[in-house]
Amino acid sequence: MKKKELSVAELLSDTILINTHMTAQEIRKAYINFFKEKNHSVISRARLVPENDPTTLFTGSGMQPLLPYLLGQEHPEGNRLVDSQTCLRAQDIEEVGDNRHTTFFEMLGNWSLGDYFKKEQISWFFEFLTDIVKLDPSRIYVTCYSGNEELNIPKDEESAKIWSEIFQAKGVDSKTIEIGSEENGYKVGEQGGRIFFYKDKNWWCRAGKAENMPEGEPGGPDTEVFYIYPEVQHNKNYGKFCHPNCDCGRYIELGNSVFMEYKKTSSGFDKLPKQNVDYGGGLERIAAASLDSSDVFTVSLLQPIIEKLEQISSKKYGQYTNNMRVIADHLRGSVFLAVDGIVPSNKEQGYVMRRLVRRAIRFAFELGVEQNFLHEIIPVIIDIYSPDFPEVLSKKNEVIEILLKEEKVFRQTLRKGVKELEKMAQNGIIDGNHIFTLYDTYGFPVELSLEENLTQDYKISDNWREEFDSKMAEQRKRSQTATKGTFKGGLGGQTLQHMKYHTATHLMYQALRDVLGKHVIQHGSNITEERLRFDFSHPEKMTPEEIKKVEEIVNEQIDKDLVVTFEEHPTKEALEDLKVLGAFGDRYGDIVKVYRMQAKGSDKPFSFEICGGPHVDHTGQLSESNKKFRIIKEESSSSGIRRIKAVLS
Ligand code: ATP
Ligand code: MG
Repeated sequence: MKKKELSVAELLSDTILINTHMTAQEIRKAYINFFKEKNHSVISRARLVPENDPTTLFTGSGMQPLLPYLLGQEHPEGNRLVDSQTCLRAQDIEEVGDNRHTTFFEMLGNWSLGDYFKKEQISWFFEFLTDIVKLDPSRIYVTCYSGNEELNIPKDEESAKIWSEIFQAKGVDSKTIEIGSEENGYKVGEQGGRIFFYKDKNWWCRAGKAENMPEGEPGGPDTEVFYIYPEVQHNKNYGKFCHPNCDCGRYIELGNSVFMEYKKTSSGFDKLPKQNVDYGGGLERIAAASLDSSDVFTVSLLQPIIEKLEQISSKKYGQYTNNMRVIADHLRGSVFLAVDGIVPSNKEQGYVMRRLVRRAIRFAFELGVEQNFLHEIIPVIIDIYSPDFPEVLSKKNEVIEILLKEEKVFRQTLRKGVKELEKMAQNGIIDGNHIFTLYDTYGFPVELSLEENLTQDYKISDNWREEFDSKMAEQRKRSQTATKGTFKGGLGGQTLQHMKYHTATHLMYQALRDVLGKHVIQHGSNITEERLRFDFSHPEKMTPEEIKKVEEIVNEQIDKDLVVTFEEHPTKEALEDLKVLGAFGDRYGDIVKVYRMQAKGSDKPFSFEICGGPHVDHTGQLSESNKKFRIIKEESSSSGIRRIKAVLS
């Protein structure tokens, strides 16, 4: 482990002596060139905000924008593709602070659309890591799919065999170990293995688990590559023994290759006629491995930001690691959001951006940086990316302006918080509920409530922490369900008319599945006061009879005056055991809100769907003033995706 008091610059100068390393920029370039030489077309990154897809807030992987092509649509650039995709995973925000997660990162990707397969993919990636980036092959560990006997899916022996030969050729041992579930990994440990078989962790499909795949749906095994940092001590809080999928940070996942190989049938799984490779690997993590550093914040895309922070705060990264990681990550992400056209606001992408900027400012406060500082940091970030991303350079002034404005607004908020605190403190005591209100409503940092105490005359209640934590837990639950809403809803406003269309959307989703089949999965939804719009997977045009049938079912359910209620469930339970409907592309938090539309006296819901709401209370409201549900348009949206517009009129 690193010595505490060293700065990043010092840490790096140590590693330079013992390592020939590549910068992240060099690795990005080398990767693209490596695959270009293997006849791949270089495609440009998609924006952080997905186009024509209201179901997800952000582009979170390289494959996300390419999904239609992996599902069969022809790509104009051919069947071998390579890129570096900028990603934003708001869901990883709580993980930022560890050694390997950032909300914003670049994912290197290469794809074979029905062209090369396992042999090429595995050997090329290994060649890239060991011959180009010059990683130590004996520190590379891999995982493969162990198969599923009940579902009749074979074990991925083929990938394991390829890996075994590759390791042997480098003189590296290649023992295989059965692990099964991740939980079991903590019980059995590494056992001197090199190639590890896991079950669900190494299976890819859109439904998450092979058990939940509808007929006709593609899926396949994946093989993941890890780099070990033996000097990182296993943390027993995660489990008794360490293993590649342990989260202690000793093994770091560099990348994984999905082999889209099978199609679900009524009796099991058949080979797909055209098999694809989908590879994604974190640029920052590979760059960190090249530095022999288990810390992604030491790479050339982040290290200058940390150094600037050290300078501004006169504090050392080694001592204030967590804060500096959060600030560097959040501001870098905010810069890219601004480049991609987002401005801080109170909803959807803008809300996430606001949260990132304000969180960075708060974490800086804790470092003693109480003055404006974004004007010093943002140009550093822009300089890092400008040579490789012309759009960052061309939007430089705009980006700086947007972020400085948000900093100013937030500081005003802070001043308001101080005033509010003074008011609250008039009776001499500040408790956890006060501190929470200041934090939640005024965005006023907790540390400040405590610190103001030094200059103002009030007492802080002894159990403020407990009170605060319990308020915070409630709030987390609320905001999780609210985020679900923004992921899901596409709801612009929340008028009664919107709610009616929203409820009608749930009814129609279920009706479509009843009429067309279980392959129907929501791909997008957009609601205005005049109509609903709904995108879903279905391979062909709906017939007039099918449209009529769907309308009939929806109107029938409206007439039955179903009662609309919601409940909260752990996500896993909701998706796996309760089998509620979700939308494709969503990533959910730990708890989800599930809406139930059920006839009085019935023991089964007609519709049971993950959703943030809001909805009407009972479906009869949809037919007020004799209105009927009607589909006014059914058309193609993109390959394999249909779009319906419907009204209550
Ligand atoms: P992890 O288990 O480490 O969170 P993951 O399984 O979520 O990784 P994938 O969704 O498979 O990762 O993404 C592909 C690659 O992208 C990973 O192998 C990793 O190198 C990189 N990656 C994923 N999440 C992050 C993140 N938050 N920050 C940096 N790199 C990431
Ligand atoms: Mg992850």
